[in-house]
Amino acid sequence: MAHRNYLVGTAGHIDHGKTELIRALSGIDTDRLKEEKQRGISIELGFAHMILPSGREVGIVDVPGHERFVRQMLAGASGMDLVLLVIAADEGIKPQTREHLEILKLLEISNIIIVLNKIDLVDQDWKNFIATEIRGELEGTTLAGSPFSPVSALTKQGIPELLARIDDMLPIVEGMKTGGPVRMPLDRIFSLKGFGTVVTGTLGSGTVRTGQELAIEPGRVMVRVRSIQVHGKIVPAAFAGQRVAINLAGAEAAEISKGAVIVSPAAFQVGNILDLAVQNLPEAEKAIRQRQRLRFHIGTAEVIGRIHLLENTEILPGQSGYAQILLESPVLTAAGDRFVLRSYSPLQTVGGGKVLGIAAAKKKRFKEELLVQMRWQDRGDTLKLVEIELTAPQTLAELSQKFPFDKSLLSPLLAKLLASDRLEIWREDGADLYWAKGAAERWRSELLTLIEDYQREFPLRQGIGREELKEKMGLLWNHHRWQSILEFGNMQKYFKLAGGKVRANNSPGLPPEILEKLDCLKKYWDEAGFRPPDLEAGARKCAISAAEITAYAQYLGEQNEWVSVSGVYFAARIMADARNSLEQHLQEYGEISVAEVRELWQTSRRYAVPLLEYFDQQHLTRRRGDKRILYKKA
Ligand code: GDP
Ligand code: MG
Repeated sequence: MAHRNYLVGTAGHIDHGKTELIRALSGIDTDRLKEEKQRGISIELGFAHMILPSGREVGIVDVPGHERFVRQMLAGASGMDLVLLVIAADEGIKPQTREHLEILKLLEISNIIIVLNKIDLVDQDWKNFIATEIRGELEGTTLAGSPFSPVSALTKQGIPELLARIDDMLPIVEGMKTGGPVRMPLDRIFSLKGFGTVVTGTLGSGTVRTGQELAIEPGRVMVRVRSIQVHGKIVPAAFAGQRVAINLAGAEAAEISKGAVIVSPAAFQVGNILDLAVQNLPEAEKAIRQRQRLRFHIGTAEVIGRIHLLENTEILPGQSGYAQILLESPVLTAAGDRFVLRSYSPLQTVGGGKVLGIAAAKKKRFKEELLVQMRWQDRGDTLKLVEIELTAPQTLAELSQKFPFDKSLLSPLLAKLLASDRLEIWREDGADLYWAKGAAERWRSELLTLIEDYQREFPLRQGIGREELKEKMGLLWNHHRWQSILEFGNMQKYFKLAGGKVRANNSPGLPPEILEKLDCLKKYWDEAGFRPPDLEAGARKCAISAAEITAYAQYLGEQNEWVSVSGVYFAARIMADARNSLEQHLQEYGEISVAEVRELWQTSRRYAVPLLEYFDQQHLTRRRGDKRILYKKA
């Protein structure tokens, strides 16, 4: 079931017409709801839903008052698909418009529509003037390409076009995670007569179902979902991206603190010290100073903390740097979460960025090893990075040269990869070789295809030479690594090693026409006895091309059917005869001359001499003068 739930947010200066616009789009007066909120759990502060031309029902958030904006944007950071930045045409960009723009940039929300409202109040020239001013403001930022929608929330001019545009822009944003653990930062916690505890929020990930056991963090208060409401209706389940009200059993409203998160139990971590990648906006007026006391906003939580700059003495406007935040109370977070930093007093956005993880302790400042490590974490999932590095097999020592992590950090990552079936362990000289499973599997299938193709093309070769295979695979490993991989692969029975060759486990049998030719050659050589023909004669006799005959001869040699003696092939049976008769003669007479050998084997000097030299090499015979004697006797 592909559930896709969209949430649209609003931003903009006070009185520019956000509430009026939502009423024009949805028919719901979010201001009036405030007064009616006591009526039942369906009444959700500042939330409405609209029907788009395609028929989709989409949630829309009104942000009552500026202070709630940051929280709302952060809470919805994973749920906010599109933001309508409302600018009144008669006033243009105001300070709050600017700050909202900055926050959108900090949170990397770039799917926005600039809604130029109150066009009923201005003439065409003025409208154009304001539009130019806004474009100038966005120039060079990630929001530069954002579309404009001129409307009047009051007269409804441009509203149908805006609805169509919202419809158009929603399918292009990425899908939401309805799988995975539940995570919903709570924006309201209250108690209703006859219901008990009710919490509301935007479901960031996962699916919430009636009866489900969940936890409220920090503090791990276990609760059970009694009922769920979405868009004012009781539903059995709510999905990521939806605005959700949950009626809970197991906790009093007073027990749940503001900024808490409802999650699948134990799915997320909670901590006081976080590693951060911090950014100060170019438009900001002040630097972020070491040990500055700041308001740290994450999800719906706002916690006071001190910034601990690890890379800079201070972060100037437009600069960024790695840092930690030492919080006065813990928050729930995961790597990749966005946050916003605001000054303690006066309340001003001073920066923001991305959480890299929860840290065990305060880190030393200006330590290159630590910074290198944070840079890696900033790039993404460290497990993934190790896996990518392991596309070729490596020892722990080799791997640790490529990563800034020491072995104590690397080993748990390898253990994790192994536990999740993403790692293979091969061996080299008794040491482990780590290889990402996916990469090893791809490598194996490529290798086997190559071997099989080769064997099909050259059936007589019975496998491919080790070096030729390495070259064909385009491997840059050193000789030793290649041999280790071959030996281990052979042991694992991925393929077979036979001497210098690598062959498939199930080598294809030889085709009948080749078998026929082999039989023909064998017969021809057997009959020729001690006067074997040369290969060209064999080729002619058995209808084998000159190019192929060597492969046939080598095959027969490998099969121990033929023996090569100084480039001349003899049938193995003939060689056995030669050996026996020679040995017998020498035992009887003690020595033999070339002339006597020719007699014994019924052959010519041309064959007799190389054969004798062969047996000398085999340590059956040795020379004494112009005679041969048994090697052992000498
Ligand atoms: P918010 O603070 O951004 O939510 O602004 P409101 O929606 O409360 O609107 C502020 C005032 O502007 C109200 O008096 C609205 O009636 C008025 N207003 C909103 N949109 C329009 C519009 O398109 N044209 C005119 N003339 N007035 C508008
Ligand atoms: Mg309003």
